[in-house]
Amino acid sequence: ALTAGIVGLPNVGKSTLFNAITKAGALAANYPFATIDPNVGIVEVPDARLEKLTELVVPKKTVPTAFEFTDIAGIVKGASKGEGLGNKFLAHIREVDAICQVVRCFVDENITHVSGTVNPIDDIEVINLELALADLESVDKRLQRVGKMAKQKDKEAMIEEPILVKVKEQLENGRPARAAELSEDELKVIKGLHLLTIKPMLYVANVSEDEVADADNNEYVQKVREYAAAEGAQVITICAKIEEEISELDDEEKAMFLEELGIKESGLDQLIRKSYDLLGLATYFTAGVQEVRAWTFRKGMKAPQCAGIIHTDFERGFIRAETVAFNDLVEAGSQAAAKEAGKVRLEGKEYIVQDGDIMLFRFNV
Ligand code: GDP
Repeated sequence: ALTAGIVGLPNVGKSTLFNAITKAGALAANYPFATIDPNVGIVEVPDARLEKLTELVVPKKTVPTAFEFTDIAGIVKGASKGEGLGNKFLAHIREVDAICQVVRCFVDENITHVSGTVNPIDDIEVINLELALADLESVDKRLQRVGKMAKQKDKEAMIEEPILVKVKEQLENGRPARAAELSEDELKVIKGLHLLTIKPMLYVANVSEDEVADADNNEYVQKVREYAAAEGAQVITICAKIEEEISELDDEEKAMFLEELGIKESGLDQLIRKSYDLLGLATYFTAGVQEVRAWTFRKGMKAPQCAGIIHTDFERGFIRAETVAFNDLVEAGSQAAAKEAGKVRLEGKEYIVQDGDIMLFRFNV
């Protein structure tokens, strides 16, 4: 499964946020998996379409799709040189697919800040520098080998070398590898390097309880937004402390609490939604009377691969899929009415599944 890693300096609110994630996950009644790793928190992906489908189909049960966060503690200055738990920390980041960086934007005299004062840009730069230095080392090492091979007219090396040079340029200028804006093909060539700064980054600005409803007025948040915009990254604002409280409430209580606070969507729901987007993920549904269920897939996946998410046999024996778009089904009011209206399509092996598709797979066993 794809996972997003939560990183940040000490005392910025990581544990508080991660607590909120694990509590929310534990509360989710339908949650079909069991987590063993204490550093992994699993949350349901909120999706209003699933509720609508449940109303239409009235199944015995409804199962949302889930998303994983990994808690990656332990970044310190000098991590890339192997200081402290640095190396372990970087190894953990290598394993995640996106990075959520928690940034302290709340002022609280009682909670010490590692560098003395609240300064989110300095904090971000401490972390990003460690990541960039680790990447620069990987790229340099690789470039030495590939450079030699390219001189001997090795075809693959001749393709790889200029890509590495492009990435190196960015890193040396203090920018992430992702700023090199490589094409899909170029990315494939250097995939084996597992660069840290090529992963999508989401900044999670943690603001205080009394500022969360109007977070964009917080000057620290404004600075984080400017910084992120310059490197093409996204920002969300949350109050980790409030998220921890919300995570213990049921849906109805949660809605009331959010309204009282003047917030439209909980920070955790925003975090899930944005991480989903960053990873290029989408949702399809299966809708039968036994079970209405949401499934996560990567945008661009074809019908057989999507069937394989449910069971590998579904992919191997794939024949075709009966597909209807969510909006068409809702408009028609039922699967039968959608069929009559010609909205249910028969799709084959080459069909690229769309977000919101309701799928019925036909397969040989
Ligand atoms: P970590 O070291 O990054 O995991 O930080 P923690 O989650 O342990 O938080 C450090 C301290 O900051 C704790 O005392 C938290 O209660 C406090 N804290 C975290 N988030 C917030 C917040 O949104 N507002 C306020 N006022 N305090 C917070």
